[in-house]
Amino acid sequence: MNKPLLAGVVGHPITHSKSPKLHSYWLKKYNIQGHYVPIDLSPKKFEEGINSLILLGFKGVNVTIPHKEAALHIAHEVSDSARKIGAANTLYFRNGKIIADNTDAYGFMENLRQNAPDWRASSGAALVLGAGGAARAIIYALLKEGAPAVKITNRTKEKAEILAQHFGDNVEVIDWNSRNECVQSVKTLVNTTSLGMTGQPDLDISLSNADCLVTDIVYNPLQTALFKQAKDNGLMTVDGLGMLLHQAVPGFQGWFGHKPEVDAALRKTVLEA
Ligand code: NAP
Repeated sequence: MNKPLLAGVVGHPITHSKSPKLHSYWLKKYNIQGHYVPIDLSPKKFEEGINSLILLGFKGVNVTIPHKEAALHIAHEVSDSARKIGAANTLYFRNGKIIADNTDAYGFMENLRQNAPDWRASSGAALVLGAGGAARAIIYALLKEGAPAVKITNRTKEKAEILAQHFGDNVEVIDWNSRNECVQSVKTLVNTTSLGMTGQPDLDISLSNADCLVTDIVYNPLQTALFKQAKDNGLMTVDGLGMLLHQAVPGFQGWFGHKPEVDAALRKTVLEA
């Protein structure tokens, strides 16, 4: 009998992660002999822990907070997306070497492709709300997909300015207080702030004169106040759960050898997790 294939998710803490539920669903669905396990490693133990997983025969891991940047530093090879985003969320272990990738941009774009197939990044400028870790992946994705301009607005303007400098000419910083005017001139609006999440205040924005696709990467709750307002205004909307599900696809394929499908049953399973 072949040895089961092993992968997991490394974070600190890790109990909140939905990834074990997600990957276990696919392992069962495709009848693959494998395990995907949560692993808690403190920052001090991160590198040593990863090397132990390689010795144990793991095929790779997802990495989450607080290790996404450290993962880049211990990698032997880094993908273009991970380098440009400045963080890794997926590691592949091959022949004793660590290959780091970032699949958040892929997940964001595949979610839009699946749920808003007529939307095109190239149809006009995009407005990104927020300048944290997730914003970096989304700005990268929008530019790569052909958005002619990306406007960033953030409560702490300096953070948006650092991102604009990092991503170059087609990225512009807008004052947080100008978001209501700015949204009227864009074709894509993405909320990457944590506003709207359970336990956080709602995002305060008016979509009354907007004509754009609205996507909120917050998925807890699934229907944020932003999402509901966009729906009430007849705008195209995509919720954030699909991004979480799609970003897991490349890792699963790399570790377990099968490209998994993101479908309604998976959404239901992960929502109930
Ligand atoms: P992060 O690095 O901590 O960034 C948080 C962002 O939210 C910052 O821009 C911050 O602004 C802003 N913010 C927080 N409180 C605010 C407030 N009261 N008013 C205005 N702005 C506020 O977090 P992240 O990793 O980018 O994640 C952001 C959200 O995306 C989280 O809800 C996370 O769950 C979600 N997410 C979803 C996916 C998915 O797959 N769907 C993937 C990644 C993240 P300041 O800079 O001014 O503090």
